[in-house]
Amino acid sequence: MGREQWGGRAVTTVVLMGPPGAGKGTHAGMLADRFAVPAISTGDIFRAQVAAGTDLGRTAQQYVDSGAYVPDEVTNAMVRERLSADDTRPGFLLDGYPRTLDQAAVLDEVLGTQDRRLTAVLVLSVDREALVRRLLRRAEIQHRSDDTEDVIRRRLEVYSEHTLPLIELNGDRRLVHEIDGNGDVDEVRERILEFAYKLTPAERSAPGA
Ligand code: ADP
Repeated sequence: MGREQWGGRAVTTVVLMGPPGAGKGTHAGMLADRFAVPAISTGDIFRAQVAAGTDLGRTAQQYVDSGAYVPDEVTNAMVRERLSADDTRPGFLLDGYPRTLDQAAVLDEVLGTQDRRLTAVLVLSVDREALVRRLLRRAEIQHRSDDTEDVIRRRLEVYSEHTLPLIELNGDRRLVHEIDGNGDVDEVRERILEFAYKLTPAERSAPGA
């Protein structure tokens, strides 16, 4: 008991999209706890592989460090494997995947073979100046190799070029919900939760809410 259900559904399969610095990781973690599903961040997986010095890490590093996307075949193979793990049965929160049309097609296919579909696609939108400010602040705290001014600019460009069109073209527009990601973490969290629960008013009084 105690598992909350997004939209009252037994399985919570949610994708979080938005530009670098939008807060995907922060909110994916919060939602994963609340809905008791794993948060899967492709960026975190790549960084962990780089740190562990695996083959995948060696392949990914040059792309991550320069702010480019890791090639689809590499990213897709990794996600396919991750989504086949047992802990994703109650669902998952995908943070930073899909980012390209090819990735979106693979996600559709994986979900199709598992006989399930997406619950929602949340797009966090944040003003550009705020994004750069947040990322530069994070650079001081976390020392991520890609949080330098040049690479931040590149990542924002890559997002606009490859991922924004994907949101616009997304197969099922009804799934896509834009959330205002400006403001502090608590404010944005409330907006997200309001959306998650509004799907099923009954869920507001769910155990553990
Ligand atoms: P951000 O969204 O803030 O740029 P992430 O931690 O999500 O940060 O991603 C960091 C880097 O990892 C990206 O710049 C890219 O190189 C790589 N990456 C993450 N997710 C993907 C993806 N779905 N496809 C290709 N590359 C990815």
